[in-house]
Amino acid sequence: MLQMMKLTSAAAAARGLARRASLPSRPLPRRPVSAASAPLLASKQFKGQGKEPRPKVKADKQEVEIRQTMTVEALARAMNKHPDHVLEALANTPLDVSRAGPSSVLEERWIKEAVRRSGMKFRWEKLSEEPRRHNRDAVPRPPAAGGGGLVRRPPVVTVMGHVDHGKTTLLDALRKSQVAASEAGGITQHIGAFGVELATGERITFLDTPGHAAFSAMRARGAHATDIVILVVAADDGVMTQTVESIRHAKRAAVPLIVAVNKCDKAQADPQRVKRELLAHDVVCEDFGGDVQAVHVSALKGHNLPALAEATAALAEILELKAEPDGAAEGLVLESRTDKGKGSVTTTLVRRGTLRRGCALVAGKTWAKVRSLLDERGRAVEEAGPGVAVEVLGWKEAPSAGDLVLEVESEQRAREVAAWRGREEELERLGAEESAVAAKRRDHDRAYRKERAELAHLSWRQRKARLYRDNKSAFASLFVRKSIAGRQLPRGAVATRYLFFGRPADVDGSLEAILNILDTYDADHQCRLDVVHVGIGDVSENDLNMAETFGGSVYGFNVAASKAIRQTAARRDIAVRLHDVIYKMVDELKAELADKLPPLLARHVLGEATVLAVFDVTAGKKKTAVAGCRVLKGQLERKMKFRLIRGGETLWEGERQMTSAGDDSEGERERERASRRAFYWLRLRRRRRVGGGPC
Ligand code: GDP
Repeated sequence: MLQMMKLTSAAAAARGLARRASLPSRPLPRRPVSAASAPLLASKQFKGQGKEPRPKVKADKQEVEIRQTMTVEALARAMNKHPDHVLEALANTPLDVSRAGPSSVLEERWIKEAVRRSGMKFRWEKLSEEPRRHNRDAVPRPPAAGGGGLVRRPPVVTVMGHVDHGKTTLLDALRKSQVAASEAGGITQHIGAFGVELATGERITFLDTPGHAAFSAMRARGAHATDIVILVVAADDGVMTQTVESIRHAKRAAVPLIVAVNKCDKAQADPQRVKRELLAHDVVCEDFGGDVQAVHVSALKGHNLPALAEATAALAEILELKAEPDGAAEGLVLESRTDKGKGSVTTTLVRRGTLRRGCALVAGKTWAKVRSLLDERGRAVEEAGPGVAVEVLGWKEAPSAGDLVLEVESEQRAREVAAWRGREEELERLGAEESAVAAKRRDHDRAYRKERAELAHLSWRQRKARLYRDNKSAFASLFVRKSIAGRQLPRGAVATRYLFFGRPADVDGSLEAILNILDTYDADHQCRLDVVHVGIGDVSENDLNMAETFGGSVYGFNVAASKAIRQTAARRDIAVRLHDVIYKMVDELKAELADKLPPLLARHVLGEATVLAVFDVTAGKKKTAVAGCRVLKGQLERKMKFRLIRGGETLWEGERQMTSAGDDSEGERERERASRRAFYWLRLRRRRRVGGGPC
């Protein structure tokens, strides 16, 4: 079986693509009609009249200022074109443009090629030190002096635990309890978090992506959103692997636990056993003299949920969770998606200050003028204070989950911060890329010098022959690589399988979690897992086209595929797999990969026999070698394979063709199985010289 999963460089590229999807699609200024086109029209006119001489105007090519390495976007800007133009210009070159995006860095030769193919000419940029850039970034404000202005805030809770122990059911039950308590029939929607209000008026914010994958993905980005972890353990199942992992994650993040012993309605439920098992993992419940609260609940029946909420509120009180509600808002992007009607939307958890409609925000390289704030029931709210999660509308681009959200003074300042961050990232990437290119160049120079030294003692003719040989093998390997991409494998080549993994999420947090899981895939040598594209939004016709081209499957997480798309996919035999539970999606992917693996061949020795004598038997006109054997161990069965070994060396392998009696009847077979020390004739498939002695 496969061990899940390592993200190949292709997957990393897909992340790049995902990020690329959120690059600013700035409307580029329309280029004025070039001076070159006007005289050309004029000259046609002259030709038609046939009188006036054609004016000799040299078409002035547009000049593009280039540097040694540039991103596609930077080159497009210098050319006054859209980044797609640059990629199109580089189509049909050895550069793999399908994996490139606006942020991809181009080497000098590709920069020149793109300029040349666009009918322009290049000019090297003057080497001048970029003037020292004044830092225009926005940072969180320092903590309030002396803790002034702090008030209690709702705790933020994540539900974790083993699969099928009832995390989702618990979250659903908690959410529904709120709807029932407030307005009958109200529908809550998945926005990444929801609030629960207790009878005492206290409020708890639950993050509604259960499981530690999402939790650790957030933490990996340096985002600490969770104050309390509710560990769900099924009372009929006890502590399982993911329970232990969840405990480890919570401990590493220094987040306190509350144990929800779930499924207590079941007859085989044994909550005491759960608590005993938890002791082995340093989770000491109050019954055993520890400080971890354990609440017996039934998420399915809704039993004891208020007690769980009260335990959470009590722990929050001990933790003294406080924040200042005044001042500029600060928060965290919990989820981010692009909605058809609403545009780029985030669920933002406010951590300090108060988020209000109309304020300007920055997160990552994007910014927002908050158009509206919505709660989990889709109701517009005017403001959201610390510890509250709301849907924020008005982002120019969707930021990433885990990004820090900061309120700034004005829209202009927000733009400035976003531009500063974009440029900083570009400079950082260029710096890294330039050092990689320099290292590559050094390696190349070294290899070239070595090659020259090796050829130095050869004659001119020998050198040519050697170069011809080397080029030929380089060409052959290029052919193999190309044909794999084009799926026309040369005979005998090992096929690396493609999997198209498209649009796995509409929610950036889950996407991150899925990509992290794929990161652990480590069976590339058996079946390559290529993430061809990662996108946000519903499955589209374009995705199907891509899947068909790559012969892959489309995976969707929390996204829809319209009926028309599903019909098209069925017609074109493209698998579209939609999920809303991460582990189920991973299971399906595992199964798909397992299907593509070559079968595992295992040998089990069923019996051993020794050859006593060998005869030549004539059947018709054919002479066949027949070995008379005695079974020493196990049993020999008619349909099994046999191997003949002498002195550790395998002499023959194949199927036995005949028993001593030459009888195929069921009774005979039964006798064979029953006897441990029978004699057999083995008619070997091909005639071989076989001597007596132990096999
Ligand atoms: P998750 O994988 O941890 O999110 O688990 P789910 O919430 O999907 O629940 C898995 C299964 O357990 C579902 O069939 C639920 O109906 C069932 N389940 C969850 N909570 C309870 C409970 O309190 N009692 C019983 N009897 N079944 C439950």
